[in-house]
Amino acid sequence: MATESFGFQAEISQLLDLIINTFYSNKEIFLRELISNGSDALDKIRYASLTDPSVLDTGKDLYIRIIPDKENKILSIRDTGIGMTKADMVNNLGTIAKSGTKGFMEALSSGADISMIGQFGVGFYSAYLVAERVQVISKQRRRAVHLGVCCWRYLHHHPDTVNPPLGRGSEIRLYLKEDQLEYLEEKRIKDVVKKHSEFISYPIQLAVTKEVEKEVEDEEEVKEEEKEESKIEEVEDEEKPKKTKKIKEKEVTNEELNKTKPIWTRNPSEITPEEYAAFYKTRIQGYPFRPQALSCPFDLFETKKKRNNIKLYGIVDSEDLPLNISRETLQQNKILKVIRKNIVKKCMDLFSEIAEDKDNFSKFYEAFGKNIKLGIHEDAQNRSKLAEFLRFYSTKATEEQTSLKDYITRMPEVQKNIYYLTGESLSSVKDSPFLEVLKKKGFEVLLLVDPIDEYAITQLKEFDGKKLICVSKEGLELEETDEEKTAREEEAKQFEDLCKAVKDALGDKVEKVVVSNRITDSPCVLVTGQFGWSSNMERIMKAQALPEPHNAIVKELKRKVAEDKADKSVRDLTYLLFETALLTSGFSLDDPTSFAKRIHRMISLGLDVEEEEEVAAVATSSEDVPPPLEAASTSAMEEID
Ligand code: ADP
Repeated sequence: MATESFGFQAEISQLLDLIINTFYSNKEIFLRELISNGSDALDKIRYASLTDPSVLDTGKDLYIRIIPDKENKILSIRDTGIGMTKADMVNNLGTIAKSGTKGFMEALSSGADISMIGQFGVGFYSAYLVAERVQVISKQRRRAVHLGVCCWRYLHHHPDTVNPPLGRGSEIRLYLKEDQLEYLEEKRIKDVVKKHSEFISYPIQLAVTKEVEKEVEDEEEVKEEEKEESKIEEVEDEEKPKKTKKIKEKEVTNEELNKTKPIWTRNPSEITPEEYAAFYKTRIQGYPFRPQALSCPFDLFETKKKRNNIKLYGIVDSEDLPLNISRETLQQNKILKVIRKNIVKKCMDLFSEIAEDKDNFSKFYEAFGKNIKLGIHEDAQNRSKLAEFLRFYSTKATEEQTSLKDYITRMPEVQKNIYYLTGESLSSVKDSPFLEVLKKKGFEVLLLVDPIDEYAITQLKEFDGKKLICVSKEGLELEETDEEKTAREEEAKQFEDLCKAVKDALGDKVEKVVVSNRITDSPCVLVTGQFGWSSNMERIMKAQALPEPHNAIVKELKRKVAEDKADKSVRDLTYLLFETALLTSGFSLDDPTSFAKRIHRMISLGLDVEEEEEVAAVATSSEDVPPPLEAASTSAMEEID
């Protein structure tokens, strides 16, 4: 036997160190990885046989066989797949750096689980979770190359001395660590295969050794008797039973472990919900059968939190897909495009079906709502169809989320658009002053509190011919009846003077001051520019204060301005209103101290402990023409101090 030694590439040695030394209890996944490699190798030979049937001359049976050898503490996993040449072995398992090695180590150090190893293309090394030494013996169909990789070195030998002969394929021999001998036990192996590899599409056999008792003729005794016979003349030959003895013999049978047909090849109507559930449960931990599996990070927006949570949400099995090409190439494949289209359609149909049952749909939406919103953002083709599955809380749907369709049925005749408000949480938006006038008019407002909502909705733009409009953006024009319109114009005229006085007082702090038709209970709100982000501090300069005519405070202000255009208390009050509006609209104050001082002055007034002189001082300190804001507040403070 010739021995050839190859060193492991440094990174792989490092990886092995990690695998060997990291405390990790879920070691059983090694079997899944090796079975999956066997299955891949079988796929490759099956694919080759489609164009050249003679490749199966070395054996038509395609299977994976697990052979426990208790005596020698070796667990072998054999497959009749494509096999490896010497170069394959060296390249695939040994000396060449693989991109996945580094990726996997990085993933591990940032908290990934060892069981994800297969996804990094280095699944083979999981063998070292349970083995102190691994030997790989492989034979390609025409070459008689046998090679063993013996932990750190390769053995090279020639004839097919493997017992029983390999014929074609690979045998991975694991010389188990002393504390991992459980993987030689029949029951343990069966459990692990059932858990992780049940749906592999090739038979997985377990070589089960049974001791059987056999009755054989006892040759020793027969001989003895013969001797005796020669001595004794008369013997009753007929009556004498034949001498036999019982011996124990070992008999090996290959038991098939995955007899259940893959769930996706069975008639859907025959599959019970329990079977579905069991299937998804076992799949969550990884995706051992790569060519058929589609998987994706479950929650695309909380990747940090759920880093390890790779989940599988669908399986497509197709005989038509080329298997011996890289995954990247596969993704460009025409058949895949057709499959993709069909999957999307199937999903949509399924969603519609689920949507018929409200309770079921709300469970579904809780789990996949984000993905639907993501679909709306990304998939222009299916955007409007997906929008039907959106559900939101609203000013009218407070207990149960509403669909856009249902929203439309509740729209008053005059309402033409769909209104929404975005925010951080339901409690922060449900009492927003932006909602007041809409509530009063009977217009429902959708409350979007999921961060992805705003992305999805801005992409969607409209639903069923109705524009989606954010109620906190500038230029909100609510539909109004003719009477409402005339009344508003009339009011605007009456409040012209007040608006001017307020604008003068606030100066550059606001862009303009107008009478608003969007609030009723609060005296004023600030709105941001039409194209800006809501509550973005940069936009504050563009904000407008909007006194509202129905509000008592505003009416009183109006009266004061009408009485005396130069009434100095108007400015102080205006400031308070402005700053309060800043707060309720989600901004922060530039100068909280002077705000606090103004509040204190008001409290003093209310309690009748007013510091009259100071108030007067503030009032008189101002110049006739209101100074720029900064100046105004500084001078006011100097007076007070
Ligand atoms: P992956 O299977 O993800 O590529 P592995 O580290 O498990 O990563 O295997 C590396 C490569 O070694 C495989 O891509 C394949 O080419 C080869 N290989 C591993 N096991 C077998 C096997 N049983 N038969 C044939 N080739 C194999």
